[in-house]
Amino acid sequence: MDKERTEFFRKLLNERLRALLVEAGATLGNLTEDQENLADAIDLASMESNRDFQLRIRDRERVLIHKIQEALGRLDEGEYGVCTHCGNDIAEKRLMARPVATHCIDCKTEFEQLERSSREL
Ligand SMILES: [Zn+2]
Repeated sequence: MDKERTEFFRKLLNERLRALLVEAGATLGNLTEDQENLADAIDLASMESNRDFQLRIRDRERVLIHKIQEALGRLDEGEYGVCTHCGNDIAEKRLMARPVATHCIDCKTEFEQLERSSREL
């Protein structure tokens, strides 16, 4: 993935993260465009010890925040947009719809079929 695309997805992920944190009621000063404030909010969200803040974040949001943090980590590592199962590129269309995706559509489909068949047993 080239630098331009990387920055595009970084921005997209950061925006989603901020939206989630705002939704969770993060009143850490102003969650403006200020990257430093955003970084503080991310730190706070990942700190298990901050119970009050954690309690305000619902499970679904917590999982999503964690996934976004992981995706941002993969961006830094240069591994973003690569399927963690088969190593192929994840289609950009899929990343646009689901920027935290870690599997290409083929693997995802395969996993879902496996899951379904194991449930039927
Ligand atoms: Zn794959």
